[in-house]
Amino acid sequence: MMTLYSTRDQEQVQGVSFEQAVLKGLATDGGLYVPELIPAFEPAFFQEVLPSMSFPDIAFAVASKLLDGTIPEGDLHRMVTAAINFPAPLHRLNEDTSILELFHGPSLAFKDFGARFMAQLMSYFNQDKEQELTILVATSGDTGAAVAAGFHGLPGIRVFVLYPAGKVSPFQELQIAGWGDNIHAVKVAGDFDDCQRLVKAAFSDEELKGQIRFTSANSINISRLLAQIFYYFEAYRQLQVEGLSLNQKTVFSVPSGNFGNLTAGLYAQRMGLPIDYFIAGTNANAVFPNYLKSGVFQAQTTIATISNAMDVGNPSNFERIQNLYHSKSGEGSTWNNIKDMLASMSVSDDQTRACIREHYQKEQYLLDPHTAVGVYAFESWKKNHPELEAAQGVVLATAHPFKFREVLEPLIGEVLPPPAQAAAMEIVAEKHFSIDPDLEPLKRLLL
Ligand SMILES: *Cc1c(COP(=O)(O)O)cnc(C)c1O
Repeated sequence: MMTLYSTRDQEQVQGVSFEQAVLKGLATDGGLYVPELIPAFEPAFFQEVLPSMSFPDIAFAVASKLLDGTIPEGDLHRMVTAAINFPAPLHRLNEDTSILELFHGPSLAFKDFGARFMAQLMSYFNQDKEQELTILVATSGDTGAAVAAGFHGLPGIRVFVLYPAGKVSPFQELQIAGWGDNIHAVKVAGDFDDCQRLVKAAFSDEELKGQIRFTSANSINISRLLAQIFYYFEAYRQLQVEGLSLNQKTVFSVPSGNFGNLTAGLYAQRMGLPIDYFIAGTNANAVFPNYLKSGVFQAQTTIATISNAMDVGNPSNFERIQNLYHSKSGEGSTWNNIKDMLASMSVSDDQTRACIREHYQKEQYLLDPHTAVGVYAFESWKKNHPELEAAQGVVLATAHPFKFREVLEPLIGEVLPPPAQAAAMEIVAEKHFSIDPDLEPLKRLLL
């Protein structure tokens, strides 16, 4: 059975079950849940078994290793197969760089993996409960889209997605409000902070708490992180099949905002996956690169960039990374442990644009702005480490270029055709509630 602890409970006195961690999201002390134990596969698994596995089989093997009997295998297999129902192909960009395309899900971003697996688990844990489960989530765009797609049609669950009026793109709004059924889109006359404040106020409102079973589909939920481990294994399998893991260092470059994706990679490595090094590319929000330089973690006010899903001034998963590399001999050595395993750099919008143009011209491959941050970070790291000639970089492609066509179309002077998922969305009518940024109108909707 899997036991989890809060990152703020260093002595590990308050263990909780996986079910509790998934349904609660955030620990009572404000910390994030982390597994007590991260079990590893034998080296033979990677050489002999992994290369011939399918992606859903890999996901199931990783999930059952981690969950260690917490959920009956048949149920877990069904949920993993329902969640991981689209591929994560590795695209060879050039000799040193491969792109792991994580954007083939319904919302065209990697968040689909985590959101879909979380949705399956929440529905499973709720199946023998009398009362409906109400999920309340605030979004600046991408999370809400992935959550809406993941939970649509699941029995026993209703979802309210709060998003700021006029602050999400028309396509993002369609991805939130285009589902109907158990997905309720709530357009708030305010900004993202108002949405978040409303969600928090609802969670602590006595009247609501008395009548509704609540949970949040927050990005810090441990179930989302687990699903993100799966595709690091799937990437490595494809490197093996292509012969790219032989006699080369394997370096993953992860475009990062809240650092959930990177944390999942660090967990994959703990599970034995042969990853040599990580690079965390950020945009102008450089809290993490600054930490690696100075040893001091200093949250900042968010700066707006063209890779806006990474505009994060206080990356919440930092606590999990610190926990993973925690050293009893103090902060300084925790910092050194982290620095040994990864590098991080901040990439400006101009550098991001130049990188997009360069690869569109050279390889006719279009990177979205987030992925371009990852590519740029890998390339400049490689330039500074000429001794590592044989390093194969895998850059996580976090979003489909179409999602950010407002940035890309003027850059390349072309109009982007919509992918199949977008075309399917256009035919669904949009329906949403509009409210002022106050608790009362939200309460009326919920009750
Ligand atoms: C959320 C998001 C990121 C950042 O991922 P984290 O896990 O928060 O670091 C990067 N790119 C895209 C497109 C995203 O939606």
